[in-house]
Amino acid sequence: MIGLISATAAGAAARDRLAGAWPDRTRVYDGPVGDAVRSAFAECERLVCFLATGAVVRLIAPLLGGKADDPGVVCVDEGGRFAVSLVGGHAGGANELAREVGEVLGAEPVVTTATDAVGLPGLDTLGLPVEGDVAGVSRALLDGEPVALRTEVAWPLPPLPVTAEGGAYAIRVTDVLAEPAEREVVLRPPSLVAGVGASKGAPVEEVLELVQRCLREAGLSAASLAEVATVEAKADEPGIVVAARRLGVPLVTYSAEELAGVEVPNPSDAPLAAVGTPSVAEAAALVRGGELLVPKRKSAGRPASATCAVARRPGRGRLAVVGLGPGARDLLTPRARAELRRASVLVGLDQYVDQIRDLLRPGTRILQSGLGAEEERARTAVAEARRGHAVALIGSGDAGVYAMASPALAEASDDIDVVGVPGITAALAAGALLGAPLGHDHVSISLSDLHTPWEVIERRVRAAAESDLVVTFYNPRSRGRDWQLPKALAILAGHRGPATPVGVVRNASRPDESARVTTLAALDAATVDMMTVVTVGNTATRQVAGRMVTPRGYRWQEEAR
Ligand code: SAH
Repeated sequence: MIGLISATAAGAAARDRLAGAWPDRTRVYDGPVGDAVRSAFAECERLVCFLATGAVVRLIAPLLGGKADDPGVVCVDEGGRFAVSLVGGHAGGANELAREVGEVLGAEPVVTTATDAVGLPGLDTLGLPVEGDVAGVSRALLDGEPVALRTEVAWPLPPLPVTAEGGAYAIRVTDVLAEPAEREVVLRPPSLVAGVGASKGAPVEEVLELVQRCLREAGLSAASLAEVATVEAKADEPGIVVAARRLGVPLVTYSAEELAGVEVPNPSDAPLAAVGTPSVAEAAALVRGGELLVPKRKSAGRPASATCAVARRPGRGRLAVVGLGPGARDLLTPRARAELRRASVLVGLDQYVDQIRDLLRPGTRILQSGLGAEEERARTAVAEARRGHAVALIGSGDAGVYAMASPALAEASDDIDVVGVPGITAALAAGALLGAPLGHDHVSISLSDLHTPWEVIERRVRAAAESDLVVTFYNPRSRGRDWQLPKALAILAGHRGPATPVGVVRNASRPDESARVTTLAALDAATVDMMTVVTVGNTATRQVAGRMVTPRGYRWQEEAR
């Protein structure tokens, strides 16, 4: 819950706007300001105070505990111009809240934590448990001092300006139990799976103690535990359910059939008879692959009521296939932006890399190549992800439309995670400039016969012509390919009139954008190049006030006429 506190009429007005925008997330604290701040501080995860920073500093000073537990506090000034992240920037969520409040109120978010100011991800915001000298290592990163990265467990981290070895400071990525050294930060990747079996009524304490003992005695950190896994028949066994909850990890279940197919070192007859698989603990730990670190062990009870085995999963790399949109920065989605900053390796065509270079975090490794190297780019991106990195593979428009997604995913195996971020494709960017050309059924056809034989392209153009589809031509014409567009237009002209509207859009949403509407008869193909898409209307498409409009063609429209 976000507590809202104000003192003046102007503050109350801004407060009410925020409460109106977030009715389920906010709670208004009325009454004397001091009492209101104290109550909200005790009861809420975050606070927005419509008060001077000085007043808020004085009020919360005696309440502050530590940055891991304190709520995040944001101050908004009387004029509603600034949303200042005051304390709890990272763990308390105040930086993020300042940005969100800024968006609702039209205020400038003010964030002063150093890592955010220079675009470094805070070591405590990576989504991984972190131990050790966070402040010291963060400062070293900011000062450009050498910081070594020691990756004992591959994990797709966002970019960090680190060196492979050497340096007085270090970031260690490991699931091994060890106190962080001086000037060291230990990041705990969720790499461990505890497979657990239990008989009916097994006590929670016994299950919990067993899992913790297995980890401890093998020298493994409980902070790296990703999940507790068991067989479906035990999905509601209270001892396992509650133990997983206390360990703070999800309980994942697998069918007996699936577990029975896993090869394990210590199968036995008891679980086979009870639940239909010769192994629960070891099989559940290993079912998604990995290395068995702790073979099956029994709990301390007499008789023992639980078993546990621990496996380390191979680190999974992450491949984000990101569409950048047609060109303009405000047509790049926030999700695409987040993925660009999430990736430590960026793969793409050089001109697209240039388009978003300023958004990348310092330390991002850029692998760019020129036109024509598609297959190689796809292979590189997948290979980097398989090494455990977080990779973004970029393309203009939508990366799945005549672009990198297909060659990349044709290469990708199921040992990496793949995330697709849709982008605004050229046909849509052009459509918005032309009017409403895509209001009824439509198709995109690429006229590039580099990878597709012309006969195939021609057959598709013919089919589109016969079925009266609106057609958008991508890759319509280049210096070496000049007869295809006239030929395709001639095929369409066999089925629709010479006055059929045709939209020609060049460099949509880029600095030298141009868009015009002409007709099938009047189009001069020489004005079309590779920066252009050409959209040909269907037999119902009309020019209205210079715009291209394809009717939706439903009866209610006919009746309205
Ligand atoms: N993935 C891209 C398409 C790649 S094919 C997308 O989804 O938009 C390349 C062709 O797309 C170009 O030859 C041109 O026909 C078209 N194109 C891409 N961006 C464009 C833009 N901003 N304006 C006009 N056409 C564009």
